[in-house]
Amino acid sequence: MRHYPIFELSFLSVSPPINAPEFEIISKLIDLSKNLDPNLKIPIGDDAAVLHFGDTFIVISTDALVQDVHFDLNYFDLNDIAHKAVGVNASDIAAMGAELKYLLVTIASPKSVQLAQLLSSLKQYALDLGATLIGGDLSSSEKLMISITAIGTMPNNTDPMLRSGAVAGDSIMVSGPLGGSNFGLRCLRANPSAKNTAQALAHLRPSAQLELGRLIARAGVRCAIDVSDGMLADLEHIALASQVGIELQDVPIFSGATIEDALFGGEDYQLIFTTNNPKHILEACANAHLFSPTIVGVCTSNPETRTLGEKRYTPRGYTHDF
Ligand code: ADP
Ligand code: MG
Repeated sequence: MRHYPIFELSFLSVSPPINAPEFEIISKLIDLSKNLDPNLKIPIGDDAAVLHFGDTFIVISTDALVQDVHFDLNYFDLNDIAHKAVGVNASDIAAMGAELKYLLVTIASPKSVQLAQLLSSLKQYALDLGATLIGGDLSSSEKLMISITAIGTMPNNTDPMLRSGAVAGDSIMVSGPLGGSNFGLRCLRANPSAKNTAQALAHLRPSAQLELGRLIARAGVRCAIDVSDGMLADLEHIALASQVGIELQDVPIFSGATIEDALFGGEDYQLIFTTNNPKHILEACANAHLFSPTIVGVCTSNPETRTLGEKRYTPRGYTHDF
């Protein structure tokens, strides 16, 4: 892990803002979901929806991986694809603070793909995370696509961690170094056979922070998101949903990655979360022998504030174009 020198940050003010079509579409979906079902605790707009039944919260999320959009068969084998598909879905469950329990897997595939191998790998990796494959669907397709629905649970005496849960004065923490996936992608594109480096594995087989997510939710953290689109882009969801500003001082960077990888790269699947008691969280992590999160900044009461070091930044990250 390394930290960025402030003088390298002149590029921040020229970044395009986040007003991409993907986010405009999602805002419309959030409006559509306002007609609330009594069991729907958290509707569209967070990392997962939360349903409330009895003394249990059911936490549900879905994410698709599409060939040539999310993975390239020049360097992803079927085990990598299975690993990543389960990992990215588990990550949204982790970001809510829930335990991953069940997966439904839909695969659209060309004839050339060994479906039995892919399914067996998916089932195995689900089991490694303590989850059970309970269904799905298969279809033929010109390109490979995997869509997973992940289902988790948490007891209703623990609050799910929400993008809207940050409060001015909270410390902002990140669960681990950022930028490894984008650095790995760059390395794999240059040399598709170099798959066993730490950065290549960060891209091919990201790990979800399931244990940390559960621990910090139980320890009272009310706000978290997983880094899928890039740190600044994902923090922006917290800033807008919580109506807080962001002052960043320090960012943990994956060894060998650049500042741009860490801030904008995405697909790291670390958790960003906020807390008014970072010392308590650090102690809880140490007691559980978990990797120590880093304090990267603070939430401010002025919702317009966006600074990194002393410089104002304009958030950007990965978005799909529609
Ligand atoms: P994440 O990066 O955590 O997977 P997304 O940015 O993909 O989150 O989605 C943000 C929110 O929008 C989530 O609550 C998600 O369920 C919802 N969403 C995204 N696409 C759709 C869709 N096609 N229909 C309904 N809700 C959607
Ligand atoms: Mg997410």
